[in-house]
Amino acid sequence: MSNQAVATVSDTYDLWIDGDERPATTDERLAVVDPATEETLTEVAMGTADDVDDAVAISRNAFESWQRRPPEERSRLLTDIGTAIREEKDRLACVETLENGKPLSEARGQVERVARHFEYYAGIADKIQGDSIPLSEEYVDYTVREPLGVTAHIVPWNVPIYLFARSVAPALAAGNAAVVKPAEETPIGALELAKLATETGLPDGLLNVVPGFGDDAGAALTGHPDVDGVTFTGSGPTGKAVAKGAIENVTEAHLELGGKSPNVIFPDADWEAALDGTMTAIFTNAGQVCSAGSRLLVHEDVHKDFVDDLVERVHELDLGPGIEDADVGPLVSRDHLKKVLDYVDVGRSEVGDPVTGGSTLDRDGYFVEPTIFDDVPMDTRIAQEEIFGPVLTVTPFADEDEAIELANATDYGLVAGVYTENIGRAHRFAREVDAGQIYINEYFAGGNETPFGGFEDSGIGRENGVQAIDNYTQIKNICANIGRR
Ligand code: NAD
Repeated sequence: MSNQAVATVSDTYDLWIDGDERPATTDERLAVVDPATEETLTEVAMGTADDVDDAVAISRNAFESWQRRPPEERSRLLTDIGTAIREEKDRLACVETLENGKPLSEARGQVERVARHFEYYAGIADKIQGDSIPLSEEYVDYTVREPLGVTAHIVPWNVPIYLFARSVAPALAAGNAAVVKPAEETPIGALELAKLATETGLPDGLLNVVPGFGDDAGAALTGHPDVDGVTFTGSGPTGKAVAKGAIENVTEAHLELGGKSPNVIFPDADWEAALDGTMTAIFTNAGQVCSAGSRLLVHEDVHKDFVDDLVERVHELDLGPGIEDADVGPLVSRDHLKKVLDYVDVGRSEVGDPVTGGSTLDRDGYFVEPTIFDDVPMDTRIAQEEIFGPVLTVTPFADEDEAIELANATDYGLVAGVYTENIGRAHRFAREVDAGQIYINEYFAGGNETPFGGFEDSGIGRENGVQAIDNYTQIKNICANIGRR
C-alpha cells in the first residue's frame, strides 16, 4: 500500500459530536481492518447508549436554530459541502477502499455520488412546498412541510459513504439534525465526512456520528424516545427489529433492505451490452450490493452460448486489492467471507460444482473468486437467499411468461434488469415484475435522482430523488375561517 493511501487514515478516531471529536463514555475501541491485507488500519471509539443520549440531545438543540435558517442558506451550505467533497475526492476514495475493500475507481465513483447527494438536495432545500386546498368560500386552507426534528441513520458497510450521504443530505436539506451510527466494519468514512461538513461551515451539533455496536448504540439510537425519524439500511432481520423499536415511540422507520434481483436476457438482446451488464450487475463491489443482479435468467435458445461468453469474461477479471484498482476486490471481513463460502458449499450440494470460481486466493485478505452456478432451480437456497458476494446463479427460461414468473419467484423485490430490443416486451416486463426499480438494457441505470427502495421484503419507503424529502418532513395543514362577505 502506498504511503499516500496510509496517510489518509488517522491512527485513532473518537466519536464526532457537536462539531468535534469526543471520546466515548467507555474505553472500548474497535480495530478497523483492511480487508485486502487483514492489517489493522485504525482503532475507533465505540459509542454506547449514553453517548447516543448525548448526541440526540445535542442534535435537538442544533435543530431548533437550523429549522429557522432561511432555506436558501441551508441550500448554499449543502452546495459548499458537495464542493468540499469533490475537492477531497482522492482522499475520501482511498478511505472507502481501505476500509471496505472495493476497487479505487469504484470508490471514486461513489465519492462523486456523495457530492452529488449534497448538491442535489441543496437544489431542493428551498423548494419544499405545500399545497393550497380548495374548500368552501369561508375557508382558506394550505399545507406546509415541516422537518421531523432529530433523525437517526443506520448505515451498513457495503457502500458506507454513499449510504451515509443518501439519507443525511435530504434530512439536513429538509431542516433536520442527524445522528448517524455507521457499521462496525466501516466507520471511518462517516467520521471523515462529518468532520469535512463541519469544516465547511455546517453548524455544530447538526450532524453527529456515533460509531458503536448495532445491538448497543444502534438499538439505543433507533429506539430513542427523542428521535423523530429512523432510516435503516441493512439486513431484513435487523430492519424488522429496528422498526419494532421505533414504533414503540410512534416513530416511522424507513427500511432499505436486501435483495435477490433478477437480470433477464432475451434472445434478441444486444449481446455485448447484456454481457457487460451482467458482469457489472454481480461483480461490482464483489457482489456486496443490495441491488446486485444475482439471479441471471437467460432464454434457453441462447443460454449455453451466453454462459460460455460470461465465463470467458470472468476469467479475464483481475482479483486483488482495491487500492491497486483490481477489477474485483476482497469481501469486507473474515466473517462475511465465511458466510459467502458457506453459500458456495450449499450451491455445490444443491447443483454441483460452479462453472467458474468457488475458491479463495492463496494470500492474505478476504478474497473469493467470482463464481457462477449454472442450471439452478428456483427452489434452491442459492437462488432464494441473498448471498451478498460475487456469486451468480443462472436459470434458463422458455418464454416471456416464464421469465416474469421466475423473476417474481423470491420474497424480495428490490430491482430487476431486462435486456431485449423488443420495446413492448421490455415495458410488459417492467409492468409485471414486482420491484422498486426496473433497468431496461442497462443494469443499474439511473442514479441519485431516481427513487430507490424495495417491494415486499426489500423494504419500506424510498430514498433518492425528490421523494426522499417525504421521509424527512411531515405535513401540517392550516385551515382558516375567513368568513363570508
Ligand atoms: P446489518 O443489518 O447486519 O447491519 C446494518 C447496520 O445495522 C449496521 O450499522 C449495524 O451495526 C446496525 N445494527 C445491527 N443491529 C442493530 C440493532 N439491533 N439496532 C440498530 N442497528 C443495528 O446488515 P449488514 O450485513 O451490515 O448489511 C448488509 C445488508 O444490507 C444486506 O442485506 C444488503 O442488501 C442491505 N443493504 C440494503 C441497501 C438498500 O438500499 N436497500 C443498501 C445497502 C445494503
